[in-house]
Amino acid sequence: MIKIRELVKAYGKLTAVNRLTLDIGENEIFGLLGANGAGKTTTIHMLATLLKPTSGSATVNGYDIVTQPAKVRSSIGIVFQAPSSDDILTGYENLHLHSMLYSVPRQIRRKRIEEVLELVGLADRKNDQVKTYSGGMRRRLEIARGLLHKPKVMFLDEPTLGLDPASREVMWKYVRTLVEEEKITVILTTHYMEEADMLCDRIAIIDKGKIVALDTPAGLKAGLGGDVIRLKTKDPQAAKLAERFDFVNRVEHSNGFLVLSVRDARKALPILLQQVEAESAEFSSPTLNDVFIQITGRNIDKEQAEGGFMERFAKYD
Ligand code: ATP
Repeated sequence: MIKIRELVKAYGKLTAVNRLTLDIGENEIFGLLGANGAGKTTTIHMLATLLKPTSGSATVNGYDIVTQPAKVRSSIGIVFQAPSSDDILTGYENLHLHSMLYSVPRQIRRKRIEEVLELVGLADRKNDQVKTYSGGMRRRLEIARGLLHKPKVMFLDEPTLGLDPASREVMWKYVRTLVEEEKITVILTTHYMEEADMLCDRIAIIDKGKIVALDTPAGLKAGLGGDVIRLKTKDPQAAKLAERFDFVNRVEHSNGFLVLSVRDARKALPILLQQVEAESAEFSSPTLNDVFIQITGRNIDKEQAEGGFMERFAKYD
């Protein structure tokens, strides 16, 4: 559905996107994960024909982003970071206006609007003014709007930015539904680790305009060497016994604990405990945040996320 080859965007001396090469399949939820300023939005804007690449090429739905921009635009829907629905119009009126702008044929307009409202769970609020909607509902309305012309690809730029955790989860549910029901490809940018982990089939971690890792969430986590088991044991033979299992990659002593690196702790632990006598046992799995820190050396903490949010919205005041 999307082929990107050596795509570059430079702003003067700053290379915001640096030789990006990537294929994204049909019906995939693909995440571009990175800190503020990593180059996610610039990438999406180039693919959506809003920005011209400095060099390199890309196709969306088989159309070239530079030479066939109109064809690309009719293949895509896009939801920007900054909300752009009209506050004093109702949800339905916003969609109606947009369907006219996008030349959705008059005969199917009403049916399509009802369909997309249903899809994003706003059918019962369609006649309320948008100014009475919550942040999550506004974002869902924007998604509905992007779906009106039945695009093949949907770009969501930070779809849950600024939403509370509960609304964020609701949003994930709707994104999954739209992939299943509309059979489209979703490309989203995010700097929320949990969002990338829970929602995306594959993730590209972007740092300073480059892809530094690309895999499924499980694959990225497995790349860190798997799970960690901590055993409290007085058994002097414990380390030796543990080393004999081929699923144990590493054995270390730390603060009175035996610390084992294993591929899958859930499977390994019961087997280990048959051989090793332990007073207590616990395990943990690496998170996507661990992967991110390991690969980029940065930690996207909440403060940075919120800071980025305020900064961004300040631009639109
Ligand atoms: P965020 O989540 O904060 O939007 P991002 O990963 O989407 O981050 P981009 O917005 O793509 O990052 O920005 C990438 C880099 O390009 C940043 O260093 C940014 O300052 C720079 N940049 C973006 N737009 C412009 C512009 N119009 N002129 C100059 N520099 C720009």
